[in-house]
Amino acid sequence: MSNLYDLIIIGAGPAGYTASIYASRFKLKNLVIGEISGGLASEAHLIENYPGFIEITGKDLMEKFRQQAEHFGGKVFNDNVIEIKKNKNEFKIKTRGGKDFSARVLILALGSSYRKLNIKGEREFLGKGVSYCPTCDGPFFKDKVIAVIGGADSAVMAAIHLSEFAKQIYLIYRKEKLRAEPIWTERAQLNKKIKIIYQINVLEIQGRDKVEKLILDKPYRGKNELEVSGVFVEIGSVPNTVLIKDLGLVSDKEGFINIKEDGSTSVSGVFAAGDVTTGSSKLRQVITAAAEGAIAAKAAYNFLKNKRY
Ligand code: NDP
Repeated sequence: MSNLYDLIIIGAGPAGYTASIYASRFKLKNLVIGEISGGLASEAHLIENYPGFIEITGKDLMEKFRQQAEHFGGKVFNDNVIEIKKNKNEFKIKTRGGKDFSARVLILALGSSYRKLNIKGEREFLGKGVSYCPTCDGPFFKDKVIAVIGGADSAVMAAIHLSEFAKQIYLIYRKEKLRAEPIWTERAQLNKKIKIIYQINVLEIQGRDKVEKLILDKPYRGKNELEVSGVFVEIGSVPNTVLIKDLGLVSDKEGFINIKEDGSTSVSGVFAAGDVTTGSSKLRQVITAAAEGAIAAKAAYNFLKNKRY
């Protein structure tokens, strides 16, 4: 089978799979390339705001997205794209596994990665008590005392999820009022295992072989340290921008790709969708990523239809 596609979608999350579903229905030969099927959404332990499902795990929802993309003829290739080059009317793509692909148009649905605290101990204790994934690592903290850092949706949802395992969870937030969806905030406040600590920052994570305590910037219950066996860092995400530089795309100061209403970017033939963009008023949800994927696929189709080779 030829490695030339009408459309290559880079990123296998909600935006990427939806773009593929729409592209297939526009009869575009399309390929989705992504290292992790489902992207960060697949790590959500519970999604309650994707219409059609009262509740579903991120993993199950993303599996359904993938199945639907493949059902309509989209191909999915699990690998990491390491290089993109524009060559006249084609884009040349190389993957870490050594595969080469070409496409007439691209949709970048690159998603985002966990933001790091960048404090002492964070990297040293990764996998030894420090985690960014409550869904993956929650069960390791059965009956333990742990902390979650952050104050928005991810942090509050993580604390609630972790209360299924841990004995006690300190939710440590730097400001005075949580800013998660009120429905989640209320659940956290009512949860007896969750203790919310406001207006405190964590300065360092300490331990011998594994996490034992957090050093705080202000005293909590008279002490500047808090004994915990684990800490979940849930402080948002940063766009995956490595490939963006290859193409010279215009992005905002945080690195999110600037898109127009139709998902088009500053480079002709390159569209973008999902968490990596400035779109959807920066409401980064599965539903907005999926919608941007659909819009970008339509724009890619129009672009190819109107283009003369
Ligand atoms: P957000 O960017 O919304 O929030 C990040 C949180 O971390 C804020 O409370 C922020 O504090 C705090 N923070 C950032 N940097 C630091 C730092 N260096 N030290 C301490 N605290 C810090 O990220 P989320 O991951 O919560 O959400 C991202 C997007 O994903 C949102 O659109 C959210 O709605 C969505 N989401 C949806 C879910 C779902 O629907 N199932 C689940 C989880 C997320 P401050 O408030 O002071 O800025």
